Amino acid sequence: MKTVSSLLDDHWHERYKRISKLNIRSSIYDVTNRCNLRCKGCFFFSSDEHKVAVEEMDLHKWEAFIDKEMARGVNLAILIGGEPTLCLDRVEAFYKRLPTFCATNGLIKVPRDRFPDMMVGISLWGDEEDERLLRGKDAFSISSKHYYGDPHAYYLYTITPKQIGKTERIVRKIADAGLKVHMQLLSNDEGVEGFSWQPEELAAIRAEMDAMLDAYPQTVISSRYYHEIITTGKMLGRSFGWRECPSVTQPLDTRHPQPKRLTNFIRWASDLKTMHRCCTSETRDCSTCKDGAAHMSWVMVNKRAHMRSAKDLQNWIEVYEMFAKLYQFIPW
Ligand code: SF4
Repeated sequence: MKTVSSLLDDHWHERYKRISKLNIRSSIYDVTNRCNLRCKGCFFFSSDEHKVAVEEMDLHKWEAFIDKEMARGVNLAILIGGEPTLCLDRVEAFYKRLPTFCATNGLIKVPRDRFPDMMVGISLWGDEEDERLLRGKDAFSISSKHYYGDPHAYYLYTITPKQIGKTERIVRKIADAGLKVHMQLLSNDEGVEGFSWQPEELAAIRAEMDAMLDAYPQTVISSRYYHEIITTGKMLGRSFGWRECPSVTQPLDTRHPQPKRLTNFIRWASDLKTMHRCCTSETRDCSTCKDGAAHMSWVMVNKRAHMRSAKDLQNWIEVYEMFAKLYQFIPW
């Protein structure tokens, strides 16, 4: 039988050891149903997830809920919304208790005196023209000033088919702002014309993502294998989708056979009672899902399948490292 030691040389084995100790147990929280933007293609609003629960307003209830989540074994809180920075007291309740990641559109600056090292992921939907079209505003021009040179912030660049040929300009702008970037692909949940991926576009963007990683290794947090998985939807000959997805809320997961999945993962609505189906849109067709975190997790929970060769296991290590960097479990 192939073992980790037999597949890896000393260098890779050291890298493996560093991540194998982490034991990340994440869950996702809708901090609020409100947002100060309305982006076309935001899965939260397009699937009416903001309507399924009445927001809990009592901070003490949030605190008690977070304590229960920690007792459930959660060691990474991923805060989304709505826009979490509209409710900084709730964000602080998480941050004071456990490793916390906050997704934001960057229009309101997270005050660093209150949250000195909280990892912030700033959403970005393309160049100025695309941002105006999809979000009604060039959000980058505001967020890049708020977070200039911040070591605990990065851009989550959602690439659309319209971005082919334009990604270098964006990555350079981010590098010039002294920030990092992680790339993912748009799932066109609202069917905006021209924003659904065609096979030749996916091949083109994969090559472009690889080129960005080579040209800007200090700025781009990614891996070639991740690019392959996200653009092809294939891993070791298997296809991504409902039957394989690891990011389904555990108490709602009735799949048989049960795939490899995230342990104890739940995505909670803002009433602290309702659970959403998965880490992304309630109504999304899984066959068109391009969610980056779900694809990363898909690789991460399938370590054993990657132990067929040294290269496969190295690919697995790189994806795990990328995830750990994005959530600050290991340094950039
Ligand atoms: S929409 Fe995406 S993340 Fe949600 S269950 Fe389907 S494949 Fe998984």
